[in-house]
Amino acid sequence: MTGQTETFGFQAEISQLLDLIINTFYSNKEIFLRELISNSSDALDKIRYAALTDPSQLDSEKELYIRITPNKEEGTLTIRDTGIGMTKADLVNNLGTIAKSGTKAFMEALSSGADISMIGQFGVGFYSSYLVAEKVQVTTKHNDDEQYIWESAAGGTFTITEDTEGPRLGRGSSMKLWIKEDLKEFLEEKRIKEIVKKHSEFISYPIQLVVTKETEKEVEDEEAEEATENKIEEVEDEDAAKKTKKTKKIKETTTENEELNKQKPIWTRNPSDVTPDEYASFYKSISNDWEDHLAVKHFSVEGQLEFKAMLYIPKRAPFDLFETKKKRHNIKLYVRRVFITEDNEELMPEYLNFVVGVVDSEDLPLNISRETLQQNKILKVIRKNLVKKTMDLLSEIAEDKENFDKFYTAFSKNLKLGIHEDAANRSKLAEFLRFHSTKSGEEMTSFKDYITRMPEIQKSIYYLTGESLEAVKDSPFLEVLKKKGFEVLLLVDPIDEYAVTQLKEFDGKKLVCVSKEGLELEETPEEKEAREKEAKDFEDLCSAIKEILGDKVEKVVVSNRITDSPCVLVTGQFGWSSNMERIMKAQALRDSSMSSYMASKKTLELNPTNAIIRELKGRVAEDKQDKTVRDLTHLLFETALLTSGFTLSAPGDFAQRINRMIALGLSIDADEPAPAPAAASEEKMPELEEAGGSMEEVD
Ligand code: ADP
Repeated sequence: MTGQTETFGFQAEISQLLDLIINTFYSNKEIFLRELISNSSDALDKIRYAALTDPSQLDSEKELYIRITPNKEEGTLTIRDTGIGMTKADLVNNLGTIAKSGTKAFMEALSSGADISMIGQFGVGFYSSYLVAEKVQVTTKHNDDEQYIWESAAGGTFTITEDTEGPRLGRGSSMKLWIKEDLKEFLEEKRIKEIVKKHSEFISYPIQLVVTKETEKEVEDEEAEEATENKIEEVEDEDAAKKTKKTKKIKETTTENEELNKQKPIWTRNPSDVTPDEYASFYKSISNDWEDHLAVKHFSVEGQLEFKAMLYIPKRAPFDLFETKKKRHNIKLYVRRVFITEDNEELMPEYLNFVVGVVDSEDLPLNISRETLQQNKILKVIRKNLVKKTMDLLSEIAEDKENFDKFYTAFSKNLKLGIHEDAANRSKLAEFLRFHSTKSGEEMTSFKDYITRMPEIQKSIYYLTGESLEAVKDSPFLEVLKKKGFEVLLLVDPIDEYAVTQLKEFDGKKLVCVSKEGLELEETPEEKEAREKEAKDFEDLCSAIKEILGDKVEKVVVSNRITDSPCVLVTGQFGWSSNMERIMKAQALRDSSMSSYMASKKTLELNPTNAIIRELKGRVAEDKQDKTVRDLTHLLFETALLTSGFTLSAPGDFAQRINRMIALGLSIDADEPAPAPAAASEEKMPELEEAGGSMEEVD
């Protein structure tokens, strides 16, 4: 190689990762080959795709293959591909200087017990070559640039040199690994074949292994021949001379390319002929996953449209499932066995981005481009089929509770997004949702199971949303429902509320939020009459409280949903719930103009049977302007804010009011100067317990 050599420093995290790879004791080193072959396969995919729209891209090297060459004399192993190659800028960026989110994520995963073989999922597979190599040299040629050599023995730096003298690659990359002294097994043909068979059997380009063969060859033995020539002169019989010509055997070494992955694509085979191991192994090869899949569907569609497909559900979500910048598309599209692309959004909706698989169409044109993919009608039909089959697959998983739990832990968010995005499959998706409830205990329940438990008079499905189970399980909103034996679903995932608001009903039953206005609980005529009477009795108190609270509440009414608490705050049917208000406030970059009209208009609902409310009613009747009544009303309102899931807009005011009550409870004159800090020592604290009792008297 000639040309100027430039030295670059590895990005800090990559440097750390290399140290880890080199220094961690790890025995399963063979996975480096899988990673390099997988990179080569990706590079081949890329050039094949580019050539669909510009066939001249292939001129630099027509044949597409991966070739492994072990060289025992040199102690090197070379993995060569005729893929897209890398420009100089690609080398600098992709192999060392640009940080990737996966680098850090992988190191974190390692420190919490992950295995090095998981490296591929984190997008840093190339570096696994340092598991076996003390030095790596990447020679590469991209159609748009000259041939370059990248080289590094780790240690923080790498070099890049233009390669003007070495053998020409045409196009593609060649990864040369100087194998560590104690790992020479990776130069053995048998070992390489075994690794390729185990990890890379389903790569869809030929993987060739350069094997050396020693053959014995008979050659004419010249010394012996000389002797014969003498004889010829003697006998002068040519034929006889030929017969007596002497030969000898010599050993000759020749090299041959042996193809290691010759079987036909797995999806073209009959499902009954594919073993579970083969399914698992194919899954790993297309997903980079290190674990087996959770479920698979292998099917073909015939008729007007023909295609074969395999869809897999993983056991776990990848670390970057919801990384918004990264669009992930896990369905590889083939047309009549030729790989076209995996970079297309048309085959699966966004919410099913975790489904991994292949589709092989008989009908699409081979030269389909990214643009035409977007409007292609055939593709739309394929997509519909894939979504339907995915739903079937999920139904199958749901038959086994343990498997479904695994699935749900990993992908419940996707289902909920689906409820939002996919109107056509909304009710099907709703069947897969699981929630905690006031009756489900530790387990979660489905809508279907919920319905089987509904008392006959119950018409709707009730739910309450909130920040955590802890926060909602004793909510005042549940009081009457619990008493009536109506189960309430407790939705504590931020995305739940989006999903149920979109869903609106399940199996003809309305989904009703118990913290919103207009809650119609199936009341008996007597209950209704009693409530209407109370509403009349409490009219004065309601209007007095509204006056005291002013704009803080929209209105004040008598409640039908609480039996113990003095009051709750409910929100408008179509506005945000307290939970939604909390979520929206937490979204820092949100457009705040929405909040003004979506923010909850609160109605204060009073419990006419509660002692505090009844006492307050008497006091108000005596004197509306009573200062204590006003103070207590604010305090009741603020407490209701908290128990109803809102946050306090002025916690200072609330604290002052509480402190005044505490002082009262302790019979301290609030205007007295504060005692020295020592006086507020721990010894005094127990008195507070009694304070509760005396406070009630004050009330
Ligand atoms: P990943 O392949 O998951 O992105 P790697 O660390 O294995 O992560 O590789 C980093 C990048 O280097 C790849 O994304 C690709 O752009 C480039 N690369 C690696 N190997 C090859 C290759 N054989 N041919 C072309 N580009 C390659």
